Amino acid sequence: MKKLGLRILILMIASVALFLGACSPTPQKDCGFVQNIYGQRITWKTKAPVKLYIHQSVPAELKPALFRAIDTWERQVGHKLFEISEDSSQVSGSPSRDNKNAIYFLSDWESDRSSEQGRTSVYWAGDQIQEADIRINGSNFSYYDQDTSALVGSSSLTKRGLTERTGYSFEALLLHELGHFLGLKHRDGSSTVMATHLAAFNDRTQLASVDQESVMCEYN
Ligand SMILES: [Zn+2]
Repeated sequence: MKKLGLRILILMIASVALFLGACSPTPQKDCGFVQNIYGQRITWKTKAPVKLYIHQSVPAELKPALFRAIDTWERQVGHKLFEISEDSSQVSGSPSRDNKNAIYFLSDWESDRSSEQGRTSVYWAGDQIQEADIRINGSNFSYYDQDTSALVGSSSLTKRGLTERTGYSFEALLLHELGHFLGLKHRDGSSTVMATHLAAFNDRTQLASVDQESVMCEYN
């Protein structure tokens, strides 16, 4: 009887351990990604392309730069990451949580956040991204695609004490925001595309080795 009691106790402990194991997710190394409170990487959890709408507010002159930024991430993983649609009628007129992922170029921007060039909002549940929207600040900044003299965006640059000639690489900015879209967080370092700041006329359009390793952790 005594032996049976011990066996039941061991079985109970084993089942409690299994139960706990099922309930608290195993932490993962961050690999450059935002993590939830359990230390799991927050990603799309798929290798299939994620639908991304380009809102009609995005200037046509800047779209080639956007497509090159997309291509840079996709060439790294070796397959499509984004399924692009330019049908604006499918998304809200302004960024909102509408279950559609979209890029907007905004001529209105919060005055207390005027130093931001862009912002990507990522909504998730558990460790799974459900929606992400990219906002580009067209109110306080101007952008170029390769030709640095052809600037698109703010017509009131002098408001911020900037010269008319100050421009930012749209490709570099989108490479960064698409990194957030995929789940990547900011990273220190001058070469990574996930560095917090992008300087004027900085063509940061190549992935650093840390960026390559990060995206390969989840989307390879
Ligand atoms: Zn950022």
